[in-house]
Amino acid sequence: MPLTNLNKTHGRSSNLSLRLHTAPPRLGESISSVLDRAGGLWNLSRSSLIREITGMSPGDIGDPDGISDVQARRSLASALNVTSSHLAQFAADPNRTSLLMAPTTRHAYCPLCFARDRSAGMLPAFQLDWGRFWLTHCRIHLTPLFDWKATGTTGERRLPPEWLVGESSFRPAPRSWLHGDLKRARWYARVGPRHGEAYEQWKALLMFETALYCTGVGGPKGPPYGGNQQYEEILSQVMALFVVTPRNLRRSLPVFKLDPQFCDEDVFRLRKSMLVARHPLKNTSSLRTRLSSIAARRALISCW
Ligand SMILES: [Zn+2]
Repeated sequence: MPLTNLNKTHGRSSNLSLRLHTAPPRLGESISSVLDRAGGLWNLSRSSLIREITGMSPGDIGDPDGISDVQARRSLASALNVTSSHLAQFAADPNRTSLLMAPTTRHAYCPLCFARDRSAGMLPAFQLDWGRFWLTHCRIHLTPLFDWKATGTTGERRLPPEWLVGESSFRPAPRSWLHGDLKRARWYARVGPRHGEAYEQWKALLMFETALYCTGVGGPKGPPYGGNQQYEEILSQVMALFVVTPRNLRRSLPVFKLDPQFCDEDVFRLRKSMLVARHPLKNTSSLRTRLSSIAARRALISCW
């Protein structure tokens, strides 16, 4: 039965009786991840699902991970069979969502976390933290995050149909991008001092991102600790300088000197076309549009 038949939608507050047959958000999961899980089960885009649940257009809702409209949040909580205050625990601070990747490109994921979720019989959850601009590795596995490549035009991350019908295994088809990501993640999970200078570079990247994470810099839940809020602005400005690096200085960027054996293209990839901005880059919001690929972001963060 189409969802529209389950409701008599005549206004934005009339959908409170809708129930989504999907599990409520799990620890650390983003709200958009729950929407995508439910949308996959109903074969609905994220925007259609938002419209069905709230009676509002996705444009009026704004960022689904920082959903600030009280009525919309209440409708969504009701659809997920949780209280509005419980759902709020999973939401980003609406004033901090600009520090996340844009909703349409917020598709970073960890193949090892997904494999773990699948082996536990659950649909994988996209973590809110994975949407951070300044975080490109999994905090659990200390491996690179990758771009989920099955995405819709409004940002929904489409899960393989076999996962939605209950199959609990995680066996990506050979030569698929998912298989490639899993293989690379496993390789990075084993990387160590025997890899020499390349390992030191990878470790430095992890330490830098971890330091930012631990002080709340770039975090979506609230401002960072102490006086680090100004640091966010500095980070954005320096990153913007990297992006507008003049042509004659590009080759001096550290990213182009990294060990090619260690830095395969799917983990560190910076196209030169990304380096010259057509418009001034003033903040993270404009940077995130420019650097939508996590491999490109990681390559530039590694310059630090
Ligand atoms: Zn992980």
